[in-house]
Amino acid sequence: MNGAGEDGRDARPTEMWKLEGTGMARERIDPDAVLCEGCGYEIGGLGEGYAANACPECGRALADSMPGHRKGSPLQREPGRGPGAICRTWWRVVRHPWRVWDEVQPAESGELASRARVLRLCTNAMAVLPVLALLVSVVYAESITPVAAALRWMVPLLAGFFVLLEVLCRIESIGIRTIGRQRGWRVTPGVARAVIAHASVGWLLAAVLIAGGFWLGRWFQGLVGVGRPLPAGDWLGAIVETAPLLFPAVGFLIGMLVFEALVYVGVRRMRFVNRVPAGGEADLAVLDEPRP
Ligand SMILES: [Zn+2]
Repeated sequence: MNGAGEDGRDARPTEMWKLEGTGMARERIDPDAVLCEGCGYEIGGLGEGYAANACPECGRALADSMPGHRKGSPLQREPGRGPGAICRTWWRVVRHPWRVWDEVQPAESGELASRARVLRLCTNAMAVLPVLALLVSVVYAESITPVAAALRWMVPLLAGFFVLLEVLCRIESIGIRTIGRQRGWRVTPGVARAVIAHASVGWLLAAVLIAGGFWLGRWFQGLVGVGRPLPAGDWLGAIVETAPLLFPAVGFLIGMLVFEALVYVGVRRMRFVNRVPAGGEADLAVLDEPRP
């Protein structure tokens, strides 16, 4: 057990270094160490003599921290990776935004990593559809012709929206890995990849709210009556006038908050998760294997 504190409490295998000038110690945890998923205690170092089957630090059952004990989200555990598995995964995250993070497996490499990418790309691509529907409905409602001219600005706009979501996912990934390092968590690229892929369903909500917000804004304008002369300082008038822009913007922010909240819960629940071993599930014998 390296990196253990003098009182033996901090048993995480860590590599410490000081950030010059900040006085802040940062830790990097061995990606192969077997940790308690609850508190980060290195249960892999407990050894053969350890009889209890709970973490000595927080009491979490050791079986609930074994590498590969997570059953995986629908897309991770089902044999196919078709639209059905992706929809079931979205539904799982939406229905159980807390519990799902006890199932999701880290996506370090191989099939798990590629499925996480598929999930993120498909979700962000699907998020383009509500915006497409909005643009088509505007073109139709405003009788904008010819359609070819409309396509000239629609296609770059939709592509731009997709790229924006991908960039935001990328930034988020860098952000959670940095925060994880500062807090002494083990947010590996595979953890970040899995969390963001599953949380990206928030962008789907954002897209639906953008489209819904626009038409709600239009409806609101019709309800209140737009075009009447507004007295100066009339805040309601200002809202009415900007509603078709303001409401979609608020919708996007709500979706982004949902994405951020899902990422936050996911990272908290997976901050000490153990890698899935190549052979699938590991058993308690992992405790007896001395780490090099
Ligand atoms: Zn523990």
